[in-house]
Amino acid sequence: MGARRIYFDNAATTPLDGRVLAPMSAAFTDLFGNPSSLHVDGRQAREAVDVARARVAALLGAKPAEICFTSGGTESNNLAIRGIVGSFSTGACHLITTAIEHPSVLEVCRSFSPSVVQVTRLPVGRDGIVDPDDLHGAITPETRLISIMAANNVIGTLQPISECGWMAHEYGIPFHVDATQAIGKIPVDVNRLQIDLLSFSAHKLYGPKGAGALFIREGTPFSSLIRGGGQEQDRRSGTENVPGIVGLGAAAELCRQEMAEESARIVQLRQRLTDRLLETVPEAYLIGHRYRRLPGLVCLGFDGLEGQAIRLMLALDEAGISVSTGSACSANRAAQPSHVLTAMGFDPLRARGSLRVSLGRFSTGEEVDLFVELLAGLVRNLRRDGVGHPSSLMMALSGETLP
Ligand code: PMP
Repeated sequence: MGARRIYFDNAATTPLDGRVLAPMSAAFTDLFGNPSSLHVDGRQAREAVDVARARVAALLGAKPAEICFTSGGTESNNLAIRGIVGSFSTGACHLITTAIEHPSVLEVCRSFSPSVVQVTRLPVGRDGIVDPDDLHGAITPETRLISIMAANNVIGTLQPISECGWMAHEYGIPFHVDATQAIGKIPVDVNRLQIDLLSFSAHKLYGPKGAGALFIREGTPFSSLIRGGGQEQDRRSGTENVPGIVGLGAAAELCRQEMAEESARIVQLRQRLTDRLLETVPEAYLIGHRYRRLPGLVCLGFDGLEGQAIRLMLALDEAGISVSTGSACSANRAAQPSHVLTAMGFDPLRARGSLRVSLGRFSTGEEVDLFVELLAGLVRNLRRDGVGHPSSLMMALSGETLP
């Protein structure tokens, strides 16, 4: 039997749940009709899309008509920001976001000419969290949108979304939340949190890649980017990705039913990981707020091994464990310090040296224990003479010992 790998990179993407794959497979074969067609084949596809829409809406506490299906988090973020900016054709336009957003928010903001759209990027503290007073101080009469992520993809910290949402509404400003890392992991209710636009992606919640959604509150000013046949209530034209949408709906429904229990289990696994790691690897430290964080995401630094995270990641990979340095989205910029850690005040060397470990639905305590043991050995080796190959632990990762 070949070696079985341990997948601790659930923040990059999650494996597809078998309970999501089954209805998707059926959709590929049986629901081939175009949902815009009026005949039976088209109507069956339309019905499946409507069921998925209702399921996604139920997870967020939204109305089905407020859900616009997209290709994922990147598209939803682009659509949200450009959709709001495009709806203001005249007058000054000011946006507020944070310095630690995902590139699919930061790069969109950067793409505007500063003479047309001014952007304020709020700072974060050493714990990776925005201070709502800074948001209050940044609001001007021209502020047209506030965009703040629910959970950070590099360090896993949670932002004070509810407070920011109430503040945005006090000033009548639309509030967008990139919840790509948060949905399905922590409760997100768009009404309780005063959210007007919310982005997320199916592949972070055990659904397929290439499917996602943007919640757009009824009455929010919005100008579509993708024009054509008028699908998705004219907010995003193009024939619907029926199997992807069916998969997103099934994944959302599973999260709605199982999230509370699953997240409690994953929090315990994370605590086991951090407790044991801090015990056995004295130079390890946790990055970001200790408790205000996603259930399964840990970001680690190693005193004296700054800038060596990539070597640790590669050695773990060779030993059968997938983790990340920074985030997968910026892997092609691995030599750059993380903009998130830089914003938290880390010096450039330390900002390059983090290891992101993200547990998920299929992670086990046994995997956590093996990981800690292996990482402790690698850190020892790296301190002594560069990363070695702890072959006895590689044996322990074989299919025989991990059910
Ligand atoms: N926002 C955040 C916070 C993310 O973590 C990601 C994915 N890494 C995205 C947006 C982009 O999502 P997608 O991969 O679905 O385009």
